[in-house]
This record gives sequence, structure tokens and C-alpha cells, in this order.
Amino acid sequence: MARYTDAVCKLCRREGQQLFLKGERCLSPKCAVTKRKTPPGDHGKKAAFARKMSDYGKQMREKQKARRIYGVMERQFRRYFKEASRRKGMTGVTLLMILETRLDNVVYRLGFADSRAQARQLVRHGHFNLNGHKVDIPSLLVKPGDVVAVREGSRNSTYFKDRMQLMQGAVTTPTWLTLNVAEQSGSVVGSPAREEIAIDLNEQLIVEYYSR
Ligand code: SF4
Repeated sequence: MARYTDAVCKLCRREGQQLFLKGERCLSPKCAVTKRKTPPGDHGKKAAFARKMSDYGKQMREKQKARRIYGVMERQFRRYFKEASRRKGMTGVTLLMILETRLDNVVYRLGFADSRAQARQLVRHGHFNLNGHKVDIPSLLVKPGDVVAVREGSRNSTYFKDRMQLMQGAVTTPTWLTLNVAEQSGSVVGSPAREEIAIDLNEQLIVEYYSR
């Protein structure tokens, strides 16, 4: 599947805000957005002072921001939007709920990885079980009652040994997830609520973008 392979900090600079794509580095003074506030590219500075953005531009930027935060390509993002429109409730919020329940996001939210990109890689490399079965598809959607656990064969790896030490008492999971550090697992005990999705995003603009 196609993936974005350029420097991810450029994505944050393009959106003019921190999207927290790189784990610890995002919290350090090395963060590219903290150092340079202009969009990337030769004309970045000019673009920063360019004319006011149109409504369409704002809607598109918000959609791009969401895609970049969750690391989802356009086609799949559109599919999530269609699914959200089919479900009951507010489409924008439902869209975010669907994105939150992606397996890679759950691995990240449980604290097994510093970023969604890292979580995605861990899942792809087959380090997790879902309900006792090996999974390697980061886009799988979890539901209440599901259990995500580090696989037996991966538990003694240096990465997970170090990670578990870091995680002891240091991870705050959202209320729809519970973490069992001793068991190296997490359970889905509910559905994500909008107020718990701490992402600076106006989902209504995304709905407007796709409703044009
Ligand atoms: Fe974005 Fe993190 Fe890079 Fe800062 S360090 S620009 S928040 S990815």
C-alpha cells in the first residue's frame, strides 16, 4: 500500500501546528514547528503571508490534518467517511470514533508505542494478538470486548522489556481502554467519546469538505 515517505515534520509545518507524529521528539525543543513556523518548500515564507484561505481551503486542510494524524491515505479515509455517514449520530464525531478504533491507534493509546507510525510498524511486524490471534493489519477496527496483547514470542524482546518498564504507572489510557502492564495487554471496554479524543481538529469542516 502507498505510504507517505518524506520527512513527517513537513506535514506539521504544512498544517501550521504540531500533529505529534514523532513521539518524544514532538515534546522536545527539536520540534520543527517550534523552530520554524512557516510552511515547507521554497515559497513557504510567502505562503505564510498569502491571502486569506477560502472556505474550501479550510475544509481541505482540516481533512488533510486528520489524515496525517492517523496516517491514513485518501482512499481509505474516504471509505471511513462513507461508513461514518451510514452510521447513526453526528458524522464528524463518528468519523473520529472510527479512526480511534483502528488497531494501530489502540496500540498507541495503550502506550505500547510513542507514535501511531511506530504502533503501525509494530502491528505490521506481527507483535500483537487480537483476542488470542496474531494480527498484522494496522487498519483493523476494534470493538468493545476485544483484547489486544503483545504476542508471547515478542514479550522478551529488548523493545518490549524496556517499554514495559517505561509504561509502569506512566500511561494514562482513555476510559474506553484499560491497560494491564503485567499481562502486556489492553482491553477495549467501551467506545471513544469526542471529549476524550484530545486532537485539535474541527471535524465539521471535514463533513463539509466531503458534502460539497
Ligand atoms: Fe510534528 Fe513532532 Fe515533527 Fe514537531 S517533532 S514537527 S510535532 S512530527
